[in-house]
Amino acid sequence: MPSDSVLRIVWIYPDLLSTYGDQGNALVLEQRARRRGIEAEIVHVRSADPVPDSGDIYLIGGGEDRPQILAAQRLRKDGGLHRAIARGAAMLAVCAGYQIMGSTFGGEEGQPVDGIGLLDIASFRGPARAVGELVAEVDSALGLPTLTGFENHMGVTSLGPGVRPLSRTVVGTGNGDGFEGCYAGHVIGTYLHGPALARNPALADLLLSWRVGDLPPLDDTRYEQLRQERFNAVLPR
Ligand code: GLN
Repeated sequence: MPSDSVLRIVWIYPDLLSTYGDQGNALVLEQRARRRGIEAEIVHVRSADPVPDSGDIYLIGGGEDRPQILAAQRLRKDGGLHRAIARGAAMLAVCAGYQIMGSTFGGEEGQPVDGIGLLDIASFRGPARAVGELVAEVDSALGLPTLTGFENHMGVTSLGPGVRPLSRTVVGTGNGDGFEGCYAGHVIGTYLHGPALARNPALADLLLSWRVGDLPPLDDTRYEQLRQERFNAVLPR
């Protein structure tokens, strides 16, 4: 926990990358912290502003190709996110935000654009748009239940040796290589919208636990009912 004992959730570039309700990820983290008596605040960092390096959990969402390119340029120039991750902050990067974390990603014409190099991944324009429900079984080392979400992207992502797949795709495309997302240290990348943390509260608790330690369980009956609805709707019978 930070010295002033307020958990700081940093939402990066809401003016550029915030599609499909990804901002909900910040609200879910804040609420799940508060319900455990942990003081939490959301810091919105617009693209004209410097990224503070004193945050606890950083979030970045999905977006269209052009704002994605702008966001990558600004993050690289700014350097605040790199410093924060180097000092142990956690991060959830979604879709366009996930692709930006790598060495390269596809621009609006499919041209290679430099990423910011926080994850050992490379993304490219894929053969077709991947759109629809996504279900994925998580890497057993993380001890999380099956993930569910919504995907909408052209890019495919290949993982280098410096990251582990977050999960194995059961329904949908994810990275395009049979896996969905990846992680390294306390940085997670994923194609899951939904928002991801509302549909997968255990993933929210994993991010929180990386900063505050073990957490008492919450009553997630309603979340679980919604998750089951999605599984019933999309899983082959
Ligand atoms: N522009 C990227 C792609 O199409 C990301 C899209 C998104 O964030 N939804 O792959």
